[in-house]
Amino acid sequence: MQNRFIDLYSDTKSKPSPGMRKAMADAEVGDEQKMEDPTVNRLRERVCELLGKEDSVFLPSGTMANQIAIRVHCRLGDEVIADRTAHIINAETGGPAANSGVMIRPIEGPNGVFTGEQVKAALRDPNSRNAPRSRLVSIENTSNGGFGTVWPLATMQGVAKVARDAGVALHMDGARLCNASVKSGVKASDYAACVDSLWLDYTKGLGAPVGASLAGDKALIKEAWRQKQMLGGSMRQSGVIAAAALYALEHNWDRLAEDHDNARHLSEGLANIKGIQIDVPRMETNLVFFEITKPGWTSAKLVDACRERGVGIGANTATRIRAVTHLDVNRKDIDTALKVISDALAA
Ligand SMILES: *Cc1c(COP(=O)(O)O)cnc(C)c1O
Repeated sequence: MQNRFIDLYSDTKSKPSPGMRKAMADAEVGDEQKMEDPTVNRLRERVCELLGKEDSVFLPSGTMANQIAIRVHCRLGDEVIADRTAHIINAETGGPAANSGVMIRPIEGPNGVFTGEQVKAALRDPNSRNAPRSRLVSIENTSNGGFGTVWPLATMQGVAKVARDAGVALHMDGARLCNASVKSGVKASDYAACVDSLWLDYTKGLGAPVGASLAGDKALIKEAWRQKQMLGGSMRQSGVIAAAALYALEHNWDRLAEDHDNARHLSEGLANIKGIQIDVPRMETNLVFFEITKPGWTSAKLVDACRERGVGIGANTATRIRAVTHLDVNRKDIDTALKVISDALAA
C-alpha cells in the first residue's frame, strides 16, 4: 500500500488548498442576508459577469440550487422533463416531489444529452384537461450519469428553442459546467444564454469546501432568495466560504484541462487491464466509468480491494465503477491507481 490514500471516489474529495484557506481566513465579512457581506456580494457580481446573467444568489449546495430553481419555475402538479440519469431524479431524495410537488418525465438521451425533438415529443398537450402541465426542462452539463459528457452548444440551443416556443422554462444543473466549458471551449456564458436559470458548483472540480451559485434574471433570483430563506439556506458571515468560491473561480477553472488529461490517461490505462471493459472515447471530461468483466467479481469487491490498497473508487452499479480525477490527484497518482487496480484484480 502506498503512503497517501489516493481518492478517486469523486471530485468532491479534494480539500481546500493553503492558498484557498488563506483567502478564507482573510475574507471581509458581514451579514449576507442583509446584503452586507462584501465577499458574498463580490461573488454575486463575479458570477453574473461569468455567466452573463442579471443576478445570482450564493447557496450552501448545488442540491439546494436545483430544489430552489424547481420551486421557482413550477407549481404543484407540473411536470419537469429531464434525462433519466439526472441528479434531480436519482440523488436528491425525491426533493422535486417533496419540495415542489412536481412530476418528472424522464427521457433518455444518449449519455444524458437529449435533443429538441425528444423534448418536443415529451411535451404535454397544453389544452388537455387531463395531462400534467409541462413547465420546465432540466439539463445537466456535463451529464454526470452520462459519463461526464459535454453538451454540444447547438444541441442545447435546439432544446432551448423547443422550450421557448412551448413557453416552458429551461434550467441547467451546472455542477460541472466548468468542465464542459474547458473541454468544449464554449464560454460558460454562451451555455448560460440558452437557459433561464443555472448554477455552478464550487465543490466539484473547482475544489472549494462549500457552496454553489444560482443565476438568472432579477425576478427569478428575487424569488430564489425567498425560497433560500424558506429552505433554511440563508447564511450570515458566509464571506468566509464565498472567498473560497472566488478563489476557486480564479485559480481552479482553467486547470481542469489537467483533470481531463488525467482522466484520459486513466481510461487508457484501464483499457489495458484484463477483466475491465471501458469505452475510452466516451469519457470526455473528469468522470471515468468502467465495467468489471472478470468472472466472479463485482464492482463492490473491486472497490473494497482497492480501498485496502490505498485507492478510493466508487461502485456505480453491480458491475460498473466510477473513478473521478480532481485537483488533489496528479499523473503519478493515476499511474499508482492503475497499478493498484491491476494488482487487486490479479490477486
Ligand atoms: C454533485 C451534483 C449535484 C449536487 O451538488 P451538491 O453541491 O453536492 O449538492 C447536482 N447535480 C450534479 C450533476 C452533481 O454532480
